[in-house]
Amino acid sequence: MITPILPTYGRADLEFESGEGAYLTTPTGERYLDFGAGVAVVSLGHTHPHLVEVLTTQAAKLWHTSNLYRIPGQERLAERLVANSFADTVFFTNSGAEAIECAIKMARKFHSANGAPERDELITFEGAFHGRTLATISAGGQEKYLEGFGRRMPGFVQVPMGDLKTMKEAIGPTTAGVLLEPIEGEGGIRPWELAALKAIREICDEAGVLLVLDEVQTGVGRTGYFYAHEMAGITPDILASAKGLGGGFPVGACLATEDAAKGMTAGTHGSTFGGNPLAAAVANGVLDIVLEEGFLERVREKGLRLKQKLAMLADENSDIIEMVRGEGLMLGMKCKCPNTDLVAALVDQHVLTVGAGDNVVRLLPPLIIDDTHIEQVVEAISAACAALRAANTTKEGAE
Ligand SMILES: *Cc1c(COP(=O)(O)O)cnc(C)c1O
Repeated sequence: MITPILPTYGRADLEFESGEGAYLTTPTGERYLDFGAGVAVVSLGHTHPHLVEVLTTQAAKLWHTSNLYRIPGQERLAERLVANSFADTVFFTNSGAEAIECAIKMARKFHSANGAPERDELITFEGAFHGRTLATISAGGQEKYLEGFGRRMPGFVQVPMGDLKTMKEAIGPTTAGVLLEPIEGEGGIRPWELAALKAIREICDEAGVLLVLDEVQTGVGRTGYFYAHEMAGITPDILASAKGLGGGFPVGACLATEDAAKGMTAGTHGSTFGGNPLAAAVANGVLDIVLEEGFLERVREKGLRLKQKLAMLADENSDIIEMVRGEGLMLGMKCKCPNTDLVAALVDQHVLTVGAGDNVVRLLPPLIIDDTHIEQVVEAISAACAALRAANTTKEGAE
């Protein structure tokens, strides 16, 4: 029988009534440490007092006017994103997939404006995830998300991650650009080597094609940098941002250089809700904190401490954890057991994490965690590994 909610998600039988900082509380008062943060969204933790204040203040004033009029909060947000990134201009959306859609359209329109409308193809990489719209499932190229939805949208060519030779050979007269995540998120916290990112930037420049980055998951401080590409010392032409940008309020953004955005003139693109006063107020609130002096540095330090502790855990539990990878507070444990088993064993320890491709368990805590949360998660992982081992021994004994 069909449920009132379309059953596209395999949900855990868990619900939460309230949240504070890194913790969520169930209706019966049980507390969970949230190292999933709603899939890298709740970047400042739950009900951060500053975000509650900016949201409620704006809510009492004005919610929505559409983009037919000026929205001062949106202008301020755009100016701040521009001031703190490579970008000259921003388009606001409600989600990551929409930010990628804008990026794809912009890349095509750029070449069209340059008199080369045949350049409409983006090169993407295996293991990528760019969202669930028809264009973004085609861009991501994952069979499990494409299956049954008819013909793939043309304009995407996929090559193996890290294989620059194949990528270079794939660039031709119909190429518009290269689209990638600096660290593949859903694909299993698979980071690009920084040297490879530099090389890709050079290859794009030589070929006259655009570098488009999907920083929907890696962006807004997640890796300890405002945007992850800063680590490689490169800049993209176009970048999609979302998830952590709203700290839990739905908002996305497509950032671009003036040159890359040259085709996006009046009337070429739109969004009814994109960057409305509420969304802009909350995203500005997120930036108030993420851009504070020392904030990103602290994310890097905490990330390093957590990663070192996870590496020790991986040594001690090498039957369960194969390796640890990632940057800042975007970390993954590649498992030897099914990753779903470790996620479930951690739920038993009252810790929330998120599974990913390549049999990885993702740790994506709010960026505001402190050492006590790090201690707590390390203890919980240790206990979860012990529980998995014990269950396995019992099973083997019974066979
Ligand atoms: C989550 C995600 C998306 C899609 O974002 P939605 O808000 O779910 O549409 C796109 N790209 C990456 C890298 C993501 O992690």
